[in-house]
Amino acid sequence: MNGAKKASLPVVAIDLGGSKIAAAIISREYQILAREYHPTLASEGVASVINRIATAVKQITASTSTALSQTCGISIAAAGAIDHKRGTVTLSPNLPGWRDVPLGSIIQERLGSRTWLFNDANAAALGEHYLGAGRGVNNLIYLTVGTGIGGAIITNGQLYTGACGSAGEIGHMTIDANGPRCECGNVGCLETLASGRAIAREAIRRISSGERSSLTELTDGKIADITAREVAIAARQGDPLAGSVINNAAAYLGVGMVNLVNIFNPEMIIVGGGVASMGDLLLNPARQVVKERAFPVSSAAASIVTTELGHDAGLLGAAYFVFKQAEDREEA
Ligand SMILES: [Zn+2]
Repeated sequence: MNGAKKASLPVVAIDLGGSKIAAAIISREYQILAREYHPTLASEGVASVINRIATAVKQITASTSTALSQTCGISIAAAGAIDHKRGTVTLSPNLPGWRDVPLGSIIQERLGSRTWLFNDANAAALGEHYLGAGRGVNNLIYLTVGTGIGGAIITNGQLYTGACGSAGEIGHMTIDANGPRCECGNVGCLETLASGRAIAREAIRRISSGERSSLTELTDGKIADITAREVAIAARQGDPLAGSVINNAAAYLGVGMVNLVNIFNPEMIIVGGGVASMGDLLLNPARQVVKERAFPVSSAAASIVTTELGHDAGLLGAAYFVFKQAEDREEA
């Protein structure tokens, strides 16, 4: 098969997150031809998650009667520090036990199809830059606020990856030098103060210490089960405790953005991830902090917006990586 023909084929895209595995078949025109979700069940261990990824690829290809040989390969966007050249997950705070896992070569050998591996936030940032909210914007920061906080930086239209590929760990910028302990080993990271996990933890802590909230009824008294999603629902219904927990988290997010705005002077900060679906409830207090604290000229230049591609940003960005490489080879 010649290169040009191969390049017109679709790609199987996988987005491996801490709670779910998304699988899709994406055409060269970036149409999502099929999409499926599976639970990650990360606590079952590395081998079990790899089995589920392989199953996800087999199911999505079978459901669309697409042979893997009729795709240009498998592109995986995964949470954590990724060595893209070696196809290895170096470390992933949201995937316990994942340390130096050669995921790319394992999947490639098992399924017999060329496999690429990328960081999920980098993939989502490129997805938004080429197909979403960041089209035509050459200096942007992508932030994903979910269970944890991830990020990616695009400067002059290029992904900034740093000396060894681990740049953009925005969730692990220090906000409070004496703050709570983070999964990464440091303390007071943005992720410990403004992620979904942080929002839930703070609501649970305040209710457990005797403060009243409609969250108690909303969760039938099972306070330990509170997630950021319930806190957002209660805040929208006017619950003062839920509102204050989200305002505090949003203010910390804003402090993180002040640092980003002052250092990178971006045109846009795009916020994705599950917690970002709160929209202006989260972003308005953050925007206010940026307006009050960042350099005025930089603050005025930066628009803070929610993702356009939503949950598909990582999948579409993973596809983009592969199609772009194929394009570059055709042009060479
Ligand atoms: Zn950290």
